[in-house]
Amino acid sequence: MPALILSLLILGLLLILASRRRLNWLGIPAGRLISLDTSRLKPVTEPLYDPDLGLTGRPDYLVQQGRRRIPVEVKSGRAPKRPHRSHVLQLAAYCHLVETTTGKRPPYGILKYADSAYKLHYTHALQQDLSNILGTLREAQDSSPGRSHNSPGRCRACGYLSSCDQSLA
Ligand code: SF4
Repeated sequence: MPALILSLLILGLLLILASRRRLNWLGIPAGRLISLDTSRLKPVTEPLYDPDLGLTGRPDYLVQQGRRRIPVEVKSGRAPKRPHRSHVLQLAAYCHLVETTTGKRPPYGILKYADSAYKLHYTHALQQDLSNILGTLREAQDSSPGRSHNSPGRCRACGYLSSCDQSLA
């Protein structure tokens, strides 16, 4: 299985394992519900890339706010009472990528759910948490095995086929 997919699995596991108490200690912001003017949203067509971290990603939208850009990630479900940690870290990664590519740090990002949106401050504590997670992922990647099978049929049915560099299909 390619390193990217393994990384995502490990990230998911790390997120599940993290306790609520630890989240509070890390300063993960609870977020503030806001209303969002969707007419100002600009779809993002090109992925953002940080060559130093080897990190790439594409938020669903960017909102121009003065000279800054605010990343917006859209989730299809209803807003939870508190944003999920995985969503928060995904948004933090987009904030980092926006800062890297524009040179301007977004003060916050937005998680848009079906019924409302959270405004999440891109704090230094959150940035540090993201950095720690990425470091853990890099260590895991360095020791990860490659594809674990030789079945083209399995690759043809795989949801990661289009982005997999080890596909047999
Ligand atoms: S396309 Fe094949 S090698 Fe790549 S992740 Fe899927 S099953 Fe594994």
